[in-house]
Amino acid sequence: MSIVPNLSNIKSELPDNVTLVAVSKTKPIEDILEAYNAGQRIFGENKIQEMVEKHEQLPEDIQWHMIGHVQRNKVKYMASFVSLIHGVDNFKLLKEINKQAKKHDRIIDCLFQLKIAEEDSKFGMTNEDVKNIINSDDFLELKNINVIGLMGMATFTDNKIQIKKEFDYLKSTFDSLRIYEFSNFNLNTISMGMSGDFELAIDCGSTMVRIGSTIFGARNYTN
Ligand SMILES: *Cc1c(COP(=O)(O)O)cnc(C)c1O
Repeated sequence: MSIVPNLSNIKSELPDNVTLVAVSKTKPIEDILEAYNAGQRIFGENKIQEMVEKHEQLPEDIQWHMIGHVQRNKVKYMASFVSLIHGVDNFKLLKEINKQAKKHDRIIDCLFQLKIAEEDSKFGMTNEDVKNIINSDDFLELKNINVIGLMGMATFTDNKIQIKKEFDYLKSTFDSLRIYEFSNFNLNTISMGMSGDFELAIDCGSTMVRIGSTIFGARNYTN
């Protein structure tokens, strides 16, 4: 098992201002504990049920990030503990997160997912969608969410020029939205970069990378 050396290799490559989310989806508790014992505290999962089960079995001081597509009716299962939700891609979902956070007397940090890839399979909003949400009257009433940044997934391709174009687009959207400041909208995070493209993402301004297979090894099934 080479989780600990993999983790320290990655960490040595990350500038101080870049946060590492160790993506543990499909991986067993033992693997997560190994990374935890080496000091890693932030873990990312893409299925709510799986994240809930792992949360129940693992130390309380782990910060759980939901990085996958979120179904509105499942927000309630993670609302008591989730630390950051990366994939917020519509207003109804944001309202539901706010409602569930309120029940637990929490403020849940969220990222707006932007569609930066050309592939139809990737979820996300446009720059205009974001502006419409934050300029609506309803938005300011959502006191139990805090939008702290943007997330994007680049096209699955070897074409570095295309990936760079997509990351640059996310960064420039981030810069253009930063002029807006509300009590529940305080942009400071750009979540972009995975195992195959995180160095490039950092060059393009990423402040949070989501890395799975380079730490934990290849997954048995893709999801
Ligand atoms: C699985 C996943 C990752 C990590 O992918 P790796 O290529 O294994 O690093 C990052 N972000 C999201 C949204 C994912 O679903």
